[in-house]
Amino acid sequence: MSNFLKQAQDLFPYTQTLRRDFHMHPELGFREVRTSGIVAKELETLGIEVTKGVGKTGVVGWLEGGKPGPTLLMRFDMDALPIIEETGAEYASQNEGVMHACGHDGHTAIGLTAAKILNEYKDNLAGNIKFCFQPSEEGTNGEEIGGAEMMMRDGVLESPKVDMTLSMHLWNEMPLGKVNVAKGPVMAGAEMFKVRIIGKGGHGAIPNQTVDPVVCAAQIITAAQSIVARNVAPLETAVVSFTMINGGTAFNVIPQEVMLEGTIRTFEPQVRVKVLKRFEEIVNGVAQAMGCRAEIHNKQLTPALINAEQVTEKAQEAARQILPEAILDTSPYITMGAEDMAFMQEKVDGCYIFIGSANHEKNLDYGHHHPRFDFDEQALVQGVALMASAAAEILK
Ligand SMILES: [Zn+2]
Ligand SMILES: [Zn+2]
Repeated sequence: MSNFLKQAQDLFPYTQTLRRDFHMHPELGFREVRTSGIVAKELETLGIEVTKGVGKTGVVGWLEGGKPGPTLLMRFDMDALPIIEETGAEYASQNEGVMHACGHDGHTAIGLTAAKILNEYKDNLAGNIKFCFQPSEEGTNGEEIGGAEMMMRDGVLESPKVDMTLSMHLWNEMPLGKVNVAKGPVMAGAEMFKVRIIGKGGHGAIPNQTVDPVVCAAQIITAAQSIVARNVAPLETAVVSFTMINGGTAFNVIPQEVMLEGTIRTFEPQVRVKVLKRFEEIVNGVAQAMGCRAEIHNKQLTPALINAEQVTEKAQEAARQILPEAILDTSPYITMGAEDMAFMQEKVDGCYIFIGSANHEKNLDYGHHHPRFDFDEQALVQGVALMASAAAEILK
């Protein structure tokens, strides 16, 4: 068990070369043709059975362990973002307007290196590994669903059936040397809502002959603030944000309707149900009281990302053994950001790990999706060591 860190260190040039190559040639979601080609080739070189085109540009590698046991899916995302890179790094993007600004270049390199290590270790594994290289985590990019869902639609969790998942993110919100492996909810579930408030337009100087949707919108926005303040328990968490308000065409015209848009974020399923119910009651109730009519369209983008107990305990055990110098954080509630791995973890028990990658001294501490985002590449070593050892611990 204990040689995983040493192997990850020895393989660092391999991981770094891959990461920098992916960084120089970033590809947007569902267009990871070059990236997935390299992934498939590297896995094939190891003798791992490869299936291409799972979820459009996704790649799946199948590694059979020496002993019978469950199947673990290890997921690494491959897509980049539509951002003009400003890092000035020697390995900066050569694909103008596209950038690996979230660290998925690192994830893909970590996945291939972990596959190399686990392939050598396979006789010791009591179970099998599905290496899942996923496209389009950042969004749907013109398709109706994102990468995780697209791979699931193509049956990535079936034949052979997946019993557990393991995945990770390099995380610039945490310094290098800190690792978070937490049970329970770790990323929020996200909804996108649109509310159309329909009144009766008219002259701005004769409001009594109108039903004003502007005043109604103002009341709805104010009243909805009480959901988080008064309906969600003080120790539970939710966000209700109105982020767009559109209505009206002239200073002396009361418009016919107003559109409101925004997002709701929650962790616990029962909190989500409660927030959505109160949202509907308040919007419809206030609209009715003001003489308007409201239409609500709510779309769930991702469920909350929730780490299962047993798998997470094993990953924590691996972290303690393999990275004794790292600061292991096991506290939940990491971020209100969203992650489509949540779709897989909704179906199968899984563990999602954060690996600290920021280095303030080296100026490698810009946030994810920033044009200057870059991470300390030593985090790649920790990522490889931890993912390989956690897989070995889970399939012990
Ligand atoms: Zn991202
Ligand atoms: Zn990301």
